[in-house]
Amino acid sequence: GARVVVVGAGLAGLRTAEELREAGYDGELVLLGAESHPPYDRPPLSKEVVRGERDDVSLKPAEFFDEHGIELRLGAPAVALDTAARSVALADGSSIGYDHLVIATGLVPRRIPGLPELDGVHVLRTLDDALALRAEFAPGRTALVVGAGFIGCELAASMRKSGLEVILVEPQPAPLASVLGPQVGALVGRLHTAEGVDVRTGTGLTGLLGEGRVRGAVLSDGTEVAADLVVIGIGSVPVTEWLTDSGVALADRAAGGGVLADEFGRTSDPNVWAVGDVAAWRHHDGSQRRVEHWTNAGEQAKVLAYALVGGESPAGEQVPYFWSDQYDIKVQALGEPLATDTVHVVRDDGRKFLAYYERDGALSAVVGAGLAGRVMKMRANIVARVPIADVLEPAGV
Ligand code: FAD
Repeated sequence: GARVVVVGAGLAGLRTAEELREAGYDGELVLLGAESHPPYDRPPLSKEVVRGERDDVSLKPAEFFDEHGIELRLGAPAVALDTAARSVALADGSSIGYDHLVIATGLVPRRIPGLPELDGVHVLRTLDDALALRAEFAPGRTALVVGAGFIGCELAASMRKSGLEVILVEPQPAPLASVLGPQVGALVGRLHTAEGVDVRTGTGLTGLLGEGRVRGAVLSDGTEVAADLVVIGIGSVPVTEWLTDSGVALADRAAGGGVLADEFGRTSDPNVWAVGDVAAWRHHDGSQRRVEHWTNAGEQAKVLAYALVGGESPAGEQVPYFWSDQYDIKVQALGEPLATDTVHVVRDDGRKFLAYYERDGALSAVVGAGLAGRVMKMRANIVARVPIADVLEPAGV
């Protein structure tokens, strides 16, 4: 019989296995995970889990895997792929053959080269990372968060909620500026300042202070800051080293890296597929790029699974979506905001805001904070790429 091997037991890998069964695949199905935990959800890690409000983040009950005929192998990282032999080598020296292979290995945090190894310096990607970080949360301690991307901003918010003092450092002119642009980034920055975060933009980390345990850092503007713990959240890189000699085509590192795939997730090898954060799929606009958001992983898994069994996905046209929880505010993006789009802030009450993004004269995305209804209402307009003038309220009315 046939065997599909899915490498990576995160959200995208799990959803792919689930959707394959949904799509009618009844052959062998093996899900390989590097971590010792069964598939779990990452969004709560920077929120409820670090704050100690939630422990169980598993995506499925234990019996799910048997019930769906999914052989889950944990603590079994793939180390190499031989596409000619159709075989994956595992860290323990064994190997496993496949008819189809799905790459779902996700990302690992980007590191700053040359920093000393000190206790109290953290990154956040895995459940184990979150538990280690949670153990450092104590009211009154000072945390330095390096990088004001989504994870840095969410952590800053969680830390404030847990009573820590927070210094948030970002080389860009505003938090989230590289994703949402400087204008909306400034609105997010204002939120953090109002919550008592010491937001320092235009500067980055150049060195760590301390021996054995971190006691502070040196910033690129020359200042020294004292801190009891440091979290580095400067982005992530796709897990593709294990594919180096496989012949599977990878995207340029400079273009974000990842596994190149078509709009169904097929890679350069007809029996190898890629899905989720690690996958640089072809998009409507012809570009090939990775998308590092939760909703995308599930949507791609569905499309891929149906294509793999030779069918057509029942999913209709998707509008990209992501969210980020910071304090009591849910930041949401519908469509594909680019930092280079023209931004129209159409509502701003000092905390909640709504912004329309304009590209080539049309509405490309809507980003809102604390205004879920207003964001979701724009779905049809985004699909239709309506002229921006049609959605901007006339001045003075
Ligand atoms: P992953 O979830 O990273 O899963 C990949 C899996 O592959 C991992 O379990 C890894 O251990 C395993 N693996 C790696 N290498 C190997 C190997 N060689 N062999 C076998 N297994 C391997 N998105 C949102 O839209 N909203 C949010 O609020 C949000 N919050 C987030 C908060 C945090 C802290 C993080 C880290 C992410 C957040 N995301 C959020 C992003 C979202 O979680 C990801 O888009 C999603 O997890 C992608 O799923 P994935 O399966 O592609 O990758």
